[in-house]
Amino acid sequence: MSEDIKDVESSEDVAAAMTGLERDDSFARAFKDKDGGRGRNSRFKKKVCKFCHNKDMVIDYKKSDILEKFLTERGKILPRRITGTCAKHQRHIALEVKRARMIALLPFVVKF
Ligand SMILES: [Zn+2]
Repeated sequence: MSEDIKDVESSEDVAAAMTGLERDDSFARAFKDKDGGRGRNSRFKKKVCKFCHNKDMVIDYKKSDILEKFLTERGKILPRRITGTCAKHQRHIALEVKRARMIALLPFVVKF
């Protein structure tokens, strides 16, 4: 009898402790998400301009494999807010992509 009661009590304690922990954890997580959901911490990753970061990477109309990374699958030039390229290099990319299109290294439009 006494053992049984003890067991129940202990299990209840454990369960209570578990739920308490879980609740605390989820609460903390929710709070964290709420705090930095969109703006600061989670999901937001600071983008760095690839050409500023890696000085050896040259933007050249002949290097269509590099330029292709800055195009959508339809062949449009990706905006800066998506690629993270700085203004200076974005202008350069746009120019070189247009040159590459003229000599048919890159498509003007990809039709599906
Ligand atoms: Zn740059």
